[in-house]
Amino acid sequence: MSLQFDNIVFGPIRSRRLGSSLGVNLLPMHGKVCSFDCIYCECGWNADGMGDRTLPSFREVCDALENGVKKCHDEGTPVDTITFSGNGEPTLHPDFPAIIEKTLEVRAKYYPSAKVSVLSNATQLGRPGVKEALAKVDNPILKIDSGVDSFARLMDRPVSEAYSINDVAGNLSWFKGDFILQTMFLRGKDGETVIDCLDPVLVRAWQELVLRLRPREVMMYTLDRVPPLATLEKVTVRQMEAVAAPLVAEGIKVQIKG
Ligand code: SF4
Repeated sequence: MSLQFDNIVFGPIRSRRLGSSLGVNLLPMHGKVCSFDCIYCECGWNADGMGDRTLPSFREVCDALENGVKKCHDEGTPVDTITFSGNGEPTLHPDFPAIIEKTLEVRAKYYPSAKVSVLSNATQLGRPGVKEALAKVDNPILKIDSGVDSFARLMDRPVSEAYSINDVAGNLSWFKGDFILQTMFLRGKDGETVIDCLDPVLVRAWQELVLRLRPREVMMYTLDRVPPLATLEKVTVRQMEAVAAPLVAEGIKVQIKG
């Protein structure tokens, strides 16, 4: 287990995608809680982190936000974005909508020009208040790793057997394109099973999904650190550019991080 974050508010860290990013972790300090168990997760496997499942309370999060953001402000530290990521899926926190309200207040007080970003796997969009809270932040960065259910299951290992791309896409339609779609691209093997995000059938299904949802931006990325399934490999920027080309031609904004 290689947990990334041992505090509620951490950083700021230099993000490949978001600049100077002050992080917020609504998950356990010493464990991982997620509705996915992605083969590439930088926090490791869910099973390796079940010791601590304690989520910080609403009050603890509010205090940490106020103190952490104020400290950066008082020290003159630049913050481009306040980013919810952490040791798992932030929208699993039962007070997620109220925490977003508090974050917007704190942002307005100390860094009015900073963005608020949420990295989410989009599995909780059907829960009351979650979509609405995500719609209030500047960057709701929502994950779909494949247009094909069976391949999404291979990549993301959803905890719920009911997970379906169609359901998630239905929830994402609610945003009317005002969200950022995030997709991981990689290659490798899971035992004897070949995993290839560049398989033409998978690429076409994903492109069709993107064109159906028409997000305001697509973030394509590949591995940055050694993943829990160590047989996986990065794809190249050029390969991702080839996948993106038909979308760009259709007017979709695509950001690629190699
Ligand atoms: S959704 Fe994010 S936190 Fe959850 S397992 Fe996947 S990469 Fe890890």
